[in-house]
Amino acid sequence: AGLKKYFPIYKGILAKKTGDIKAVDDISFHIRKGEILGLVGESGCGKSTAGRTILNLLEPTGGKVTFEGEVLYDVEKKQKITANRMRQMRKDMQIVFQDPYASLDPRMNIGTILTEGVLKHKLYQKKEALDKAKELLEICGLSASAVHKYPHEFSGGQRQRIGIARALALNPKLIVGDELIAALDVSIQSQILTLFQEMIEKFSLTTLFISHDLSVVRYFCDRICVMYLGSVVEIGTSEQLFSQPLHPYTQALLSAIPKTSPKDNKDRIILTGEVPTAANPPKGCKFHTRCQYATKRCKQEVPQAIEAEPGHVVNCHLVEKRTGADYL
Ligand code: SF4
Ligand code: MG
Repeated sequence: AGLKKYFPIYKGILAKKTGDIKAVDDISFHIRKGEILGLVGESGCGKSTAGRTILNLLEPTGGKVTFEGEVLYDVEKKQKITANRMRQMRKDMQIVFQDPYASLDPRMNIGTILTEGVLKHKLYQKKEALDKAKELLEICGLSASAVHKYPHEFSGGQRQRIGIARALALNPKLIVGDELIAALDVSIQSQILTLFQEMIEKFSLTTLFISHDLSVVRYFCDRICVMYLGSVVEIGTSEQLFSQPLHPYTQALLSAIPKTSPKDNKDRIILTGEVPTAANPPKGCKFHTRCQYATKRCKQEVPQAIEAEPGHVVNCHLVEKRTGADYL
């Protein structure tokens, strides 16, 4: 029953403008309570911006963001959550950043880093907060004595464990992982991913997992949302996306994942053409400059979202044509 209860953290339309760059341009999706949603695309496609906007770390220029039914922003209706209420809600929505080096204040010891938010929200007294921090460090695979140390005394992987512990300290409902293993040595990436996965389960977290790497998202996420140049091009369950990718961009991303048999590698779709910039995206379907199926219509008309099968939504003129016959 819990799964049926929609928990639209992010819903509606959102256009986030940074200067003239439409980093996130009119995207819509929601994250269901308890699910892990993967947000995938090449670097610069607006994934991080989307993640930060959902958490209200960035202010959207258009659209609507809601969390558990509560409106954080509704730009068209000029509605905005009060700063006070946002402070209260902040503890429910936490993020683990890509770069563990930059995201921990070098002047603070780990105890301070982990208790700062808890004390600000008056969740515990100081002593209790510190005990909690020690417990969390141990859960995250570090020693409790780490509270007395400083970020520079830890390796990249350990710092990312601290970053995860910090996000968990406030007992959030939603956690966003933004490329949280991308800056780490390949040898420790899977350890950190496993830890993150264990914590999601242990604390029953709803998760937005941002990554440029589809092969990582595949086994980790319940549903996947693919972005290209600030737009969502396809959303579906991991199963749907991997067994029947419908958008040519998703197909190209998938074909780029190295296969175990070299024979299969020849099916790789090579994307030609330069990646256009978000500042000056192509008209019509933004992918048309790199799409092998592009037609005249693609250059003029923005493809609308089509639900090709239940829960599997794609923005491509090609699919629209086939809807009914092949997919329903
Ligand atoms: Fe390719 Fe046209 Fe589909 Fe865009 S709408 S992905 S250009 S076929
Ligand atoms: Mg990013």
